[in-house]
Amino acid sequence: MSSSTFVCRNQSCGTPWEPNEVVIRNEGQGLLFRCPLCGARNYVERFEAEDGSVVYEQIEGRPFL
Ligand SMILES: [Zn+2]
Repeated sequence: MSSSTFVCRNQSCGTPWEPNEVVIRNEGQGLLFRCPLCGARNYVERFEAEDGSVVYEQIEGRPFL
């Protein structure tokens, strides 16, 4: 089992988060989580593995819509 760690993109924050430490939701511009510490938006992409498990990977900037 590999779990990717997120890193807050706010340069003055940069806090690493485990996926289970943040809440991923869609605020209308794609999936994102807000850094629990500074509130910065961090966009993620959802991937579904063949076994049906869902993983999220942090992406640069915003997703294309
Ligand atoms: Zn942060």
